[in-house]
Amino acid sequence: MNRFFRVTTRKIVGRGYAAVGSKSLRIEGVKDIIAVASGKGGVGKSTTAVNLAVSLANKCQLSVGLLDADVYGPSIPTMMKLHGKPEVSKVNKMIPIENHGVKCISMGSLVEKDAPIVWRGPMVMKALEQMTRGVEWGQLDILVVDMPPGTGDAQISMSQRLQLSGALIVSTPQDVALMDARRGVKMFSKVSVPILGLIENMSYFKCPHCSEPSYIFGKGGARKTADEMGLGFVGEIPLEEGIRSGSDEGVPVVVSHPNSAVSKAYGDVADKIISRLQELAADQHFRPEITL
Ligand code: ADP
Repeated sequence: MNRFFRVTTRKIVGRGYAAVGSKSLRIEGVKDIIAVASGKGGVGKSTTAVNLAVSLANKCQLSVGLLDADVYGPSIPTMMKLHGKPEVSKVNKMIPIENHGVKCISMGSLVEKDAPIVWRGPMVMKALEQMTRGVEWGQLDILVVDMPPGTGDAQISMSQRLQLSGALIVSTPQDVALMDARRGVKMFSKVSVPILGLIENMSYFKCPHCSEPSYIFGKGGARKTADEMGLGFVGEIPLEEGIRSGSDEGVPVVVSHPNSAVSKAYGDVADKIISRLQELAADQHFRPEITL
C-alpha cells in the first residue's frame, strides 16, 4: 500500500484530524493545537512561534501554551528565558515553566545544555508523547507547537498525532525558502491539516539612518506564493535588530516594545489566526481549494 494512502485515511475527531490507527496525542482541556512550521531551518520559525504565543496570551487575553517540538534545535528556553527543569506533579506529570504569560515545555529544558541530541524517529515520538500527555497543561485556549523544520517522516507523524487544528507556515521572501514552504503546505495538506496562513519573515530591512527599506531576500515572494496557492497571507515581519536581541535575551520584542510597529504586526497575525480558527470551527468541513 502506498505510504500516503495510509496517512490520508483519517477520521475527524473533535476539532483536530487524526489518522486512523495512529495513537492520538490529543490533550484534555486544550481547545486548539496549532503548528508553526517551515520547510527550511533558520527562517525565523521559533521567533514567530514565541512572538505569536505571547501576543495571543497578552494582547488577545487567551490562555496559551508553547511546546518546543523542534527536537533538533530547541531554542525556546533561551527565547522565553526559561530557567531550570520543569517540576513534577504528584501525578508524575511535568509542570510547564511559565514566563511572559505563556506556559512552556521544551526538550531543551529536559536535556543538559550543549549536549548533542541525536534523535531517531521512535525517540522523537516518545519525546513528543512526554511533552503532550506527560504535562499538566491545564485548560488552554491554544497550544502553539514550534515544529522541527522540514517535511520528513517525523514532521508527518507529529502533525497527525497532535491532531492539529491548523498550521502557520513561516518563510522568508527568498525563492529557496519559498520552495520549501510549498513543500510544507503540501505535507500538511496530505495529512488534512488546514493551513492557517503564510507569514513572511525578514521581509525587508529599514535603514536606521534614512528609513529606506532594503529587500535583502527579495520582495513580496511570500505574498505571491500565498496568492498562487490560495492561502491566507497573514503578514510581513521586517529584519530588525530588536527582534534578534529580544530572542537572544529571552524577552520577545512584543514584551520589550509592545507598542512598536513590529509588535503590532505580530498582534495582527494573532488576530488573523484566531479568526481563521473560528472559521474552521464553524465549519468542520470547510476546506478552501489549495493549489499544490
Ligand atoms: P528557525 O526556528 O526557523 O530555525 P529562528 O527563529 O531560530 O529560526 O531564527 C534564526 C535566527 O534569526 C535567530 O538568531 C533569530 O533571532 C533571528 N531572527 C529571526 N527572525 C528575525 C527578524 N525578523 N529580524 C531579526 N532577526 C531575526
